[in-house]
Amino acid sequence: MSCPYCMAEIIAGRLVCVSCSRDIAVPPALLAERDDLRRKRDLIRGELQKARGELEMIRTRNRSRRD
Ligand SMILES: [Zn+2]
Repeated sequence: MSCPYCMAEIIAGRLVCVSCSRDIAVPPALLAERDDLRRKRDLIRGELQKARGELEMIRTRNRSRRD
């Protein structure tokens, strides 16, 4: 097992990471939820990126129409 924050190896039984001093006594269920949220966040980021690209395309189109 490794630290979820700095990826350093965790010493069994420790509640705090020896490398970054963060609290690592996190229940596995919460870690799973966090991973799930990260996946959703990445998905939303991708969607946002796509939407921005489309918006930029529309803006460019409108600009050239006005000129
Ligand atoms: Zn750490």
